[in-house]
Amino acid sequence: MRQQFTTVAVVGGGASGIIAALTAAEVSGRHVLLLERQQRIGRKLLATGNGRCNLTNQNASPTDYFGRDPAFAEYALSHFGPVDAQRFFSRIGLLTVTEPGGRVYPFSDSSNSVLDVLRFALDRAAVEQRCSFPVDEIIPKGKAYLLKSGNETLLADAVILACGGAAGAKLGGVMDGYRLGKALGHRRTSLYPSLTRILTASDYPRSLKGVRVQASLRLMRGDHLLAESAGEVQFTENGVSGPAGFDLSRAVSFGGEGQVLHLKLLPFESEGILSLVHARQKQFPELEASELFTGMLHNRLGRVLVKAAGIPATVPLKTLTPEDLRTAARKCEDFCLPVRGTDGFDAAQVTAGGLITDDFDPKTMQSRLHPGLYACGELLDIDGPCGGYNLQWAWASGRLAGRLGT
Ligand SMILES: Cc1cc2nc3c(=O)[nH]c(=O)nc-3n(C[C@H](O)[C@H](O)[C@H](O)COP(=O)(O)OP(=O)(O)OC[C@H]3O[C@@H](n4cnc5c(N)ncnc54)[C@H](O)[C@@H]3O)c2cc1C
Repeated sequence: MRQQFTTVAVVGGGASGIIAALTAAEVSGRHVLLLERQQRIGRKLLATGNGRCNLTNQNASPTDYFGRDPAFAEYALSHFGPVDAQRFFSRIGLLTVTEPGGRVYPFSDSSNSVLDVLRFALDRAAVEQRCSFPVDEIIPKGKAYLLKSGNETLLADAVILACGGAAGAKLGGVMDGYRLGKALGHRRTSLYPSLTRILTASDYPRSLKGVRVQASLRLMRGDHLLAESAGEVQFTENGVSGPAGFDLSRAVSFGGEGQVLHLKLLPFESEGILSLVHARQKQFPELEASELFTGMLHNRLGRVLVKAAGIPATVPLKTLTPEDLRTAARKCEDFCLPVRGTDGFDAAQVTAGGLITDDFDPKTMQSRLHPGLYACGELLDIDGPCGGYNLQWAWASGRLAGRLGT
């Protein structure tokens, strides 16, 4: 059995592990080893933002995050916020651009640029990388830790757990971090997929597949409002996705049976929508009823609303009664889709839940159970909404963990 002595071992070469390794090397000047189970580091990072990498959000603030104790994230996020993240990336050579909604992307529009500048920075800081190195076990040995992978062992006097979560399985989302944490006595919450597609009931109108709309969304169970969002919705074959849909998926995962998604498809009050359809009937009396919303909404969506209002598609608009128009306007203001769940971890962007943060010091990310053991990123029970918030958490928590308590 080969054994190597190192000083700082970072387990996981994703967003949080890379920045933690870089920080540890820069701040402590110690030998840092970045251990990655996949063939290369940063694989998930390359897939983020549809290959564009939405690396942070200018509007991200500590109050935007979720978890059993979201206040845990405050210290890390206020000491390394979105401005610090942009400054950091500028310093290591990345040109960025900020889009509406505060979303920050590389100017190149390619996530490769983000990983490239990080890799160059790791090289400059002399961080040693070891890929195809899945850490199977971490055993405390006095003040140090023995890390095992197959036949190999390493000895480190500080370990940063940055294994990510269960989301995005095809990109390397695994349960390893939770298992390694548990073996060291750390507890975890239940895990739920978040930022993923919402699946709706089987009578969902499939003709909507591919339609995009700006809408306001409310997730209800009976009269109880579970969550709301607004923005772009994309209709899929069997439900909704897009940023506004993604932002409700966390609540769907937690919400149980009987949830209904309510979409407001035009940004006007009831009377405004009603007067639009009345005006249309007056203006185009001979037009088929199925075209009632054509020119206002995507035509396929308009036809679905007319059908949902129980109006025959081919009758002329002039034959519609005031009640027909009221029902159609109502469908546009409150289009209801019963929910049957989410798409699960494979398609999810982030894991809601994780290692319980009570067991870590929010000012250092150090384990309260094992001195010299740190954790960061998605592995911990902190997650954020869609739009650069989760990478911001990965950078902020990784940066703090990499300081190794200094
Ligand atoms: C498709 C997709 C798109 C996304 N888009 C965005 C976006 O645009 N903006 C945004 O803010 N967030 C986005 N996210 C979320 C974001 O990517 C994650 O929250 C972030 O990568 C978490 O960083 P992390 O370092 O904690 O985990 P990861 O980036 O998942 O890194 C963990 C690493 O640890 C490695 N590892 C695991 N176990 C072991 C082990 N036993 N030994 C060694 N290595 C191990 C894994 O292989 C992995 O490389 C997206 C996620 C997905 C799946």
